Amino acid sequence: MDCLFCKIVNKEIPAEIIYEDNHTLAFLDIHPKTPAHVLIIPKKHYASIIEVDESEIGPLFATVKKIAIMLNDKFKPDGLSIGINQGRAAGQEVDHLHIHILMRYKNDKGGSIQSIVDNPPKESLKEIKNKILN
Ligand code: AMP
Ligand code: ZN
Repeated sequence: MDCLFCKIVNKEIPAEIIYEDNHTLAFLDIHPKTPAHVLIIPKKHYASIIEVDESEIGPLFATVKKIAIMLNDKFKPDGLSIGINQGRAAGQEVDHLHIHILMRYKNDKGGSIQSIVDNPPKESLKEIKNKILN
C-alpha cells in the first residue's frame, strides 16, 4: 500500500523513531509545532479510529501514556495536547491513524483542543442526546 506511515513502519523511509513495540510506533513529526512533537501510530494500517481493531486500542493508548511520561521526564513541559485529526475537514493529511502529542508551555500562544473550532449547535443538549441515542 502506498502509505507514508506504513513506509515508516517498514523502514522504507527514515524517521526519528523514539519508541517501538509489536503493535505501535512513535516518531517525531517532521514539521514540529512544539519543542517535541510526537506521532504515535498502530503498525497495522487503519485510516481512522472508526476502522481500528479493538485489540489495537489498548496498545495504542499504552504507548500514548509511555510517550507522555518520556516527554514529561525529559522536557518538563507545563502540559500536553493529545489529539487526532480525523477527516480532511479536521485537518487529516495522512490517512494512517495517528495520535499527535504536542508539548505545551505557559504563554506558548496555543489554545485548547476545543478552541480550534467555533460552530456550536442550534439544538439543546437534550435534543442532541436524543439524536445520538435514538
Ligand atoms: P495530520 O494533519 O493529522 O494528518 O498530520 C500529519 C502529520 O504528519 C503532519 O504533522 C506532518 O508534519 C507529519 N508528517 C508528514 N510526513 C512525515 C514524515 N515523513 N515523517 C514524520 N512526520 C511526517
Ligand atoms: Zn498506512
